[in-house]
Amino acid sequence: MTERIDGHTLLISLIATPIRHSLSPTMHNEAFAKLGLDYAYMAFEVGNEELKDAVQGIRALGIRGSNVSMPNKQAIIPYLDELSPAAELVGAVNTVTNKEGKGHLVGHVTDGTGAMRALKEEGVEVKGQIVTMTGAGGAGTAIAIQAALDGVKELRIFNINDQHYQTAEETVKKINGNTECVATLTDLSDQAAFKQSISESSIYIDATGVGMKPLQEESLINDPEVIRPDLVVFDVVYIPKETKLLKFAREHGAKKTINGLGMMLYQGAEAFKHFTGEDMPVDYIRELLF
Ligand code: NAD
Repeated sequence: MTERIDGHTLLISLIATPIRHSLSPTMHNEAFAKLGLDYAYMAFEVGNEELKDAVQGIRALGIRGSNVSMPNKQAIIPYLDELSPAAELVGAVNTVTNKEGKGHLVGHVTDGTGAMRALKEEGVEVKGQIVTMTGAGGAGTAIAIQAALDGVKELRIFNINDQHYQTAEETVKKINGNTECVATLTDLSDQAAFKQSISESSIYIDATGVGMKPLQEESLINDPEVIRPDLVVFDVVYIPKETKLLKFAREHGAKKTINGLGMMLYQGAEAFKHFTGEDMPVDYIRELLF
């Protein structure tokens, strides 16, 4: 590190809390080192209370960009100067750019494009498909909007009746009002409708986090009849690498099961491109970290 950092080194930050567990600092710093780019990436424990000052700090210090995670993804929007069209539609930001350090901050969201690229790299085409998904929180909204922008024919969202249900209703309205995709929302308690929807879909996406601690013993699908040999099952969770859902789907003959590692990698790669203008060496990073 001391060989790399000098008076010219440019800083990229990550602002979130909790954040010490994040893979992002290692991912970006390894990629900078591999490409010989004079940047350093640091994580800062920042919550909503410190957020306004932190954003001023980005401007004042000429920090060239920042990743943003919970609980700041929506809260940061009023402090930014501009949003990308996708961030505007999603209503959340995970990447901020500060071009040439001049203080004009643009918010982007790369979770949805990261998820779509992860599917593409696995040979899964979303265009023209019927997709069923569960979860409409931060990750689910970004995926839903990007899937619609990328040409999914029908997107059927199922959510439990919690505080995210309303977000899901808004997402469905945005998709139907701004894209060619036909989106619907159904309460997940209607299990017959959920199973029927998956039987008509080529892709099922679980964006709920069920399957990750403390719900690692749970899965939203437990009926073997739901899994077909032409169904792709994608779970955004990456710890564990194989959730109960993915194991169940694999054992019952799903066409493909995909975990959240690719989404994690490609959302980072797109942020890296925004920060540096360069392509992240994704094969190298995948080998090193995943
Ligand atoms: P969130 O809290 O914003 O949303 C969670 C969603 O799941 C909501 O729609 C909620 O209604 C639903 N839900 C919660 N508990 C449920 C249950 N028991 N049964 C059914 N539905 C339930 O969370 P988020 O920020 O969207 O994160 C969701 C998951 O996505 C987490 O596991 C997170 O780690 C993962 N994630 C992965 C990546 C990646 O790059 N792979 C990126 C972001 C988030």
